[in-house]
Amino acid sequence: MLNLILFGPPGSGKGTQAARVAEKYHLLHLSTGDMLREELRRESALGKEAKRFIDEGLLVPDEVIIGMISDKIDATSSVVKGYLFDGFPRTQPQAEALDNLLSLKNTQIAGVLALDVSEEEITRRILSRGESSGRSDDRDESIIRNRYQVYQNETAPVANHYKASNRFVLLPGEGSVDGIFNSLSEQIDRLL
Ligand code: AMP
Repeated sequence: MLNLILFGPPGSGKGTQAARVAEKYHLLHLSTGDMLREELRRESALGKEAKRFIDEGLLVPDEVIIGMISDKIDATSSVVKGYLFDGFPRTQPQAEALDNLLSLKNTQIAGVLALDVSEEEITRRILSRGESSGRSDDRDESIIRNRYQVYQNETAPVANHYKASNRFVLLPGEGSVDGIFNSLSEQIDRLL
């Protein structure tokens, strides 16, 4: 299996790039943000619990996220070539849980590809996405700044978990979608 993490702040282009990378390398794209929005849409118990965190730009509790990913891995690991995680892991406990879940399937994370984008560019991109995405958390500048702060405080340190084992690559996340996709592909080809 080839398992990768696309890492970076909200609005860094992970979703756009993940869809293309997953298609090129035949990986299952798992975005916890998309999975949560689907639960919200279905008005499931999980969706209702997650909503108040998402609306404020806060992280949904680890046990909810880990349970969701664990179920997904159990249901798919025998039929996929690998996973592309997008927006997950966002905390140290999530990173540790992911290691354990993958090791139960005799596999691991091959690499973490991080997109580097400035806070100003992120705010601009998310506000512009909010005009069409229908996401309320993309429309309010104070919630966007909050999400960025949460990223800095809780998620950015997760990089150290992977840097320690030389599995972390930082790439410029500003520029054309095609240019960024090409540099991601180059890095992934090195891991194959
Ligand atoms: P995203 O689409 O990745 O920007 O996620 C949207 C929102 O969903 C985030 O602001 C969080 O409230 C929640 N969320 C998504 N993924 C996670 C995660 N791995 N851990 C905690 N909360 C998450």
